[in-house]
Amino acid sequence: MSFAVINPATEETIVTLDSAGIDETDAAVARAKAAYPAWRAVSPADRGRLLRRLATLVEEHHEELARIESQNVGKPIVGARGEVGMVADVFHFYAGAVDKKHGETIPVAGGIDLTFREPLGVVGLIVPWNFPLNISSWKLGPALACGNTVVLKPAELTPLSALRLAELALEAGIPEGVLNVVVGKGSVVGQRLVDHPDVAKIGFTGSTEVGRGVMQGAAATIKRVTLELGGKSANVVFADADLERAAAAAPYAVFDNAGQDCCARSRILVERSAYDRFAELLVDATRNVKVGDPADDATEMGPLISAAHRETVASFVDGKTLFTGAAPTGKGYWYPCTLVEATNDDRIARDEVFGPVAALIPFDDEADAVRIANDTPYGLSGSIWTQNGARALRVARALETGVLSVNSNSSVRVSTPFGGFKQSGFGRELGMHALDGYSEVKNVYYSTEG
Ligand code: NAP
Ligand code: MG
Repeated sequence: MSFAVINPATEETIVTLDSAGIDETDAAVARAKAAYPAWRAVSPADRGRLLRRLATLVEEHHEELARIESQNVGKPIVGARGEVGMVADVFHFYAGAVDKKHGETIPVAGGIDLTFREPLGVVGLIVPWNFPLNISSWKLGPALACGNTVVLKPAELTPLSALRLAELALEAGIPEGVLNVVVGKGSVVGQRLVDHPDVAKIGFTGSTEVGRGVMQGAAATIKRVTLELGGKSANVVFADADLERAAAAAPYAVFDNAGQDCCARSRILVERSAYDRFAELLVDATRNVKVGDPADDATEMGPLISAAHRETVASFVDGKTLFTGAAPTGKGYWYPCTLVEATNDDRIARDEVFGPVAALIPFDDEADAVRIANDTPYGLSGSIWTQNGARALRVARALETGVLSVNSNSSVRVSTPFGGFKQSGFGRELGMHALDGYSEVKNVYYSTEG
């Protein structure tokens, strides 16, 4: 069956592709399985060399990849360029990391134990539509570095950058069959990868709901899983913060990628004594977010991914709206930046909106801030704004979340671990930690007797 890949800023068809089914998925797993023995036998240093070549090719095709991503996701070109830059950095990082993760030698009675880091085999990588290439690279880098072969399933809405990356991987000299991309529906291709007996692990990024199904499905074959799921992160602003700086940054912590960001700090918690002042500053800063043509270098926010998603986002906004920004009309799935005053019990503060909608929530003191921030089933990201260093560390320790930033929005780095607490998932991507998710420890006892 064929389907149209749409540009969400224009509603135009970019290209029509065939949707893979079970047979194509099985064929890709078979190719990955056939390629596995030779790939795992490549020395770590040589796998690193191939990944470095891929990183260089991504750099050489930087603008092309950024344009593909910008068109297919509707994301501003400047942001897309940054993401492609990170993709290259991720492959450089794992190219350098691959021969630095060693086993141990453990002296024991009668001999010595040796530990080895073994690849898992064929791994299935399932990624969402919001950061298609970036999130693919977070999984591909460590998976390939560790000696696994992969079947990558991009979201059906946004398959284009993964297809181009697979071509570049071949050009880099990564052998055929090592990196396979299958384009098709999650309920078909994704589910088949989850069920397939020859797939050893699923690296999944997406919604908590689908992630729960992946975990259940993986139980049948005791597959390894890492899950990077949804979030409802808090941006905690204390009255002693640099309010101007915090307010200038806050819109980008939730409106970046049109709010379609698992790390979106979509609950803005503000200490009551600074609430009115901060709200005023926040409205001013939000008014300045430039919404429009993703191809324009000046644009800061593009459209949502689809008409259906826009309806879902709109359903969250009712009642106490503090501010609604401007957005283009006509073709494209546009939605304006929206600030809503809420309590933490409101639906807008409970569920992931995944759109440019922020909930402003007042708190009384430090303990109240921590209580509200943690009152969510999610635990992915968050920020703390204060000029009191001791408080920043106290609150950072108290928050139930995998990733945090202090006096900044930014907590995703190539070299640092990324992942969730609670229902935001488990396992860590990026940094050296990600290698643990794509390898298994083997322990060999070697007798020195006789
Ligand atoms: P989604 O609906 O869960 O889909 C994610 C991926 O899973 C897509 O490739 C989808 O395929 C596939 N899929 C759907 N049903 C499946 C099934 N039964 N078995 C296996 N795979 C299946 O998520 P989304 O709507 O694309 O993305 C938004 C969500 O991702 C948000 O909740 C967001 O918070 C989360 N997210 C998390 C992170 C993180 O790192 N924690 C990062 C980004 C996004 P199709 O779409 O092609 O059907
Ligand atoms: Mg979805």
